[in-house]
Amino acid sequence: MITARFTAACPACALTIAEGTPIEQDPASRQWVHLGCLEELRDTRLSEAPRTVCPVCHTVRSVTGACMCEEDA
Ligand SMILES: [Zn+2]
Ligand SMILES: [Zn+2]
Repeated sequence: MITARFTAACPACALTIAEGTPIEQDPASRQWVHLGCLEELRDTRLSEAPRTVCPVCHTVRSVTGACMCEEDA
């Protein structure tokens, strides 16, 4: 953790990071975010994992991308 030495925009919450605010670097994107936003950024990334619904059988695909109709085949 460091304190911001300049004003920037936080990519996680889109709010301003004011000078002197505690910030943390996201290791994945190498972007600086608010200290409390780092965890939120990780949560967002997890929920954005490819979990789409199959338009044929309407089941949510598993992490591997498999769905009900692929199991039948
Ligand atoms: Zn933030
Ligand atoms: Zn399917």
